Amino acid sequence: MRDFLIEPDERRRLPSVDRVLGSASDLIKQWGRSKVSSQIKTALAELRKNAAAKDSEQLSVDGIVEAVRVALSLNEQASALRPIINLTGIVLHTNLGRAILPQNALTAVLQVAGGPVNLEYDLSSGKRGNREKLVEELICELTGAEAATAVNNNAAAILLTLNTLANNKEVPLSRGEMVEIGDSFRIADIIERSGCTLVEVGATNRTHLTDFELAINKRTGLIIKIYPSNYRIEGFSQNVPEAKLSALAKRYDIPFVVDMGSGNLLDLGRYGLPREPTAMMSLQSGADIITFSGDKLLGGPQCGIIAGRADLINQIRKNPIKRALRIDKMTLAALTEVLKLYRHPDKLSSDLPTLKYLTRDQDDIKFQAGRISPKLSAALPATYNVKAVGCASQIGSGAMPIKSLPSFGIQVTADNDKLLRRLAEAMRELPYPVIGRISGGIFQLDLRCLDCESLFLDQLSDLKDLLN
Ligand SMILES: *Cc1c(COP(=O)(O)O)cnc(C)c1O
Repeated sequence: MRDFLIEPDERRRLPSVDRVLGSASDLIKQWGRSKVSSQIKTALAELRKNAAAKDSEQLSVDGIVEAVRVALSLNEQASALRPIINLTGIVLHTNLGRAILPQNALTAVLQVAGGPVNLEYDLSSGKRGNREKLVEELICELTGAEAATAVNNNAAAILLTLNTLANNKEVPLSRGEMVEIGDSFRIADIIERSGCTLVEVGATNRTHLTDFELAINKRTGLIIKIYPSNYRIEGFSQNVPEAKLSALAKRYDIPFVVDMGSGNLLDLGRYGLPREPTAMMSLQSGADIITFSGDKLLGGPQCGIIAGRADLINQIRKNPIKRALRIDKMTLAALTEVLKLYRHPDKLSSDLPTLKYLTRDQDDIKFQAGRISPKLSAALPATYNVKAVGCASQIGSGAMPIKSLPSFGIQVTADNDKLLRRLAEAMRELPYPVIGRISGGIFQLDLRCLDCESLFLDQLSDLKDLLN
């Protein structure tokens, strides 16, 4: 289309792919021929589009090899998993990997990953062992459940539970609990993929016990309650308490399942946080099975925990799909260590990073903001205006969506949005990318999760270079 814009002689000046390949032997050694060749094609196509704007150096074989070298390493850097600094103010950020593991879990992961372990081997009998024994004991101890198992994430926990207990059966669910969790992931879709027929009951804002009663028949497999993770229905609203749903399920001899979303094992009120129902409370209210995530409030590795009645957990364990969803040895090791910390609730807010961030004192964050803000200000061009201000953090990952935690951070403003976007971009280009948030003409860094202050400060000179 645009070819007529380019002088034919300039296009002719571009070397062939093979000629560039011939001069790129070191790149081929490092990256392999096919990757280098495809990057050369991309580079040539790019040059062909605007050859007129390029100098002869850029169009030369050496120039192209250099451009390809830079592109290959940049591409890899951009898509590799890299440590970042989370200053978004969202403690459990799904896009940033959710919970940070505690030290004892990291040590355990290294140990089991680096050599053979007795994963399914009983050292006393020398026979096949049960990989989940200890983790199950811990979950039962902490939740009061009779039995428990773990799978890859909470979505898998729901899938496996429903497929085991209600395949080819109907599952009534309140219209007020038809949750979309993020990235178009809807629980209702999981329920249907589990082999169940979803039966919507009640209205968006109000569902009554009689709505469930009317929906139950011979084909009903179980009753499910899903915690509203990332929203609240306020005002003229009502949902049926767990105890009532449980009594109803018992009357019809079907299981009552609760998807708790964020796994909460303790009364968070004791740490000064908003109270959330605990796993133990749901089981005490009569839930036969509860499911929750391992990497949300629980503060552990990505996994999904299923706990409750022993006969049902046994059925769930025997479902062949369990094999496809089981956790690996690293997750198992990390989960075990995290659960062990819960045996000492008085030390939890210092040992478990998630709880440490959530309970960080606002004054402490404020002092930190006071230390950092003049240094950031000095590193930025005069077109930026920096000040330390109070702000509000969120727990994230659907936990207590309408509650926020008083925090402190740094606000940067500028004459125009373009400058702010450039700043956010430069922060992301740092060796340890810093992720903040732009909203309403302000670039905001919430310091609640900044536990590597010197690393942040060390990068300010890079930031200065990037913006000049
Ligand atoms: C987060 C969440 C899930 C999904 O959990 P994953 O561990 O991300 O699979 C399911 N249900 C509820 C209510 C949630 O909040």
